[in-house]
Amino acid sequence: MQDVIIIGAGVVGCSISYYLTKYDLKVTVLEKCNDVSCGTTKANSAIIHAGYDPKEGTHMARLNVLGSKLTKEVCQKLDVPYQQCGAFVLGFNEEDRKHIELLYQRGVNNGVEGLEIIDHKKALELEPNLSEEVTCALWAKSSAIVSPWELCLALAETSVKNGADFRLNQEVKAIRKENGVFTVTTQDAEYQSRYVINCAGLYADVINEMVNPKSFTINSVKGEYYLIDKSEGKRVSRTIFQCPNKDGKGVLVSPTVHGNLIVGPNAEKNEKEDLSTTSAGLAFVKKAAVRSVPSINFRENIRNFAGNRAKSEVDDFIFEESATENFFNCAAICSPGLSSALGMGYEVLEWLKGKEELKEKTNVVDSRKQIRFKQLSMEEKNELIAKHPEYGRVICRCETVTEGEILAALHSVLPAVSIDGVKRRCNTGMGRCQGGFCGPKITEIIARELHISPLEVLQDLDGSNILKEQIKEDC
Ligand SMILES: Cc1cc2nc3c(=O)[nH]c(=O)nc-3n(C[C@H](O)[C@H](O)[C@H](O)COP(=O)(O)OP(=O)(O)OC[C@H]3O[C@@H](n4cnc5c(N)ncnc54)[C@H](O)[C@@H]3O)c2cc1C
Repeated sequence: MQDVIIIGAGVVGCSISYYLTKYDLKVTVLEKCNDVSCGTTKANSAIIHAGYDPKEGTHMARLNVLGSKLTKEVCQKLDVPYQQCGAFVLGFNEEDRKHIELLYQRGVNNGVEGLEIIDHKKALELEPNLSEEVTCALWAKSSAIVSPWELCLALAETSVKNGADFRLNQEVKAIRKENGVFTVTTQDAEYQSRYVINCAGLYADVINEMVNPKSFTINSVKGEYYLIDKSEGKRVSRTIFQCPNKDGKGVLVSPTVHGNLIVGPNAEKNEKEDLSTTSAGLAFVKKAAVRSVPSINFRENIRNFAGNRAKSEVDDFIFEESATENFFNCAAICSPGLSSALGMGYEVLEWLKGKEELKEKTNVVDSRKQIRFKQLSMEEKNELIAKHPEYGRVICRCETVTEGEILAALHSVLPAVSIDGVKRRCNTGMGRCQGGFCGPKITEIIARELHISPLEVLQDLDGSNILKEQIKEDC
């Protein structure tokens, strides 16, 4: 029997697993997809928010401010791409100015450091591509950008090294509690534990109702994006927001840690599984974004994508022990959930410490070093290739990713099982051609390394096979 079962391997479930596995606890993570970070965690704005936006006294405010500090530390320890680039919230008129003053005060009350209100001149000096219409801005110096899926993977891999048991392709179907023991049933197995932590994202309401009466509903609110080529990556050097409204933080323009420019999102209620982008949604995003930064060259767009926010009736995270003792809900984790995830991990550990005495493990793994070939010096590259010739074969030409890095992704402690799984681990297909050139080569490498037919190679989730049939050689 396990001590803790965590349901859902997004950034929240993996953050909790990261903290709990530092202690003498048997932890199992059940995830319905074939990889971690396949839900909302892989499709968002990738901002580690400073914490001026959530209302004082909410879980969001507390966990955002704590999470943002912890994310900075953890990204350094686990070698996750992270840049503290800062953010502006732009004002265009007197009403916006009042809102910016409110956000400033809220930030101070929430304990956010490094906030300043600046005028038109200073805003344009720091960000010359902003609209001339900008009258003032809130400058949040602690705001940062991160690679969300690499953060999630780093937390998951570190947990595995510390003993976590990640069970992928396990969809939780039922939960029952008898004599203090939870039995969690998936499509093909039963798992038992003393505690259950519900981190099932858009489906946290369904999981909650497996043991509790209905107490909240999760609705999906879609956000659509442009991801623009690196040629536009320096259009702004900070994350540029407009004043938030009732639907969220509005449309942002931001550099990404991979050197691109991200523009979005809108906010449209939708079905949980709908990740389509629409011409109307993207037109809305474009119109809103050029109000902040008129010169964005949308012709350099390389990809559109969408992510779904998990929203409940309440304007806060649902972060509490449920009516069923020892069953904890991390639900309605909409934005700033990415920024708050490590705060949740930290506090779930504190919650467990309040339940029983926990023993810290000795020899905990809490560091990680990734080989990113293109970031090495010439001497380091030569040295690496001399020892491991597979690092001398560049497979993804846009991002200069080598076969060595792909092999590391396919044989890691949480190995990639698809083309997108490789992409999330080492950035293949992230460049201008979006995998057009390297896709076939990566398919061959996956088939060879996983000892499967190329016909079985997946783009991403189960059923996303990319090749249909082998054409007979004599045809
Ligand atoms: C458009 C958009 C923009 C955003 N921008 C930001 C931002 O800039 N900064 C920020 O801080 N936050 C942002 N967020 C919010 C952030 O992305 C989320 O809060 C965060 O990713 C939620 O993580 P999670 O682990 O709760 O959910 P998920 O990543 O969705 O993980 C839940 C997991 O549970 C699994 N699961 C579901 N049902 C079952 C089941 N029955 N059995 C087993 N597994 C199951 C799913 O497959 C999934 O992997 C944004 C969100 C969106 C949509």
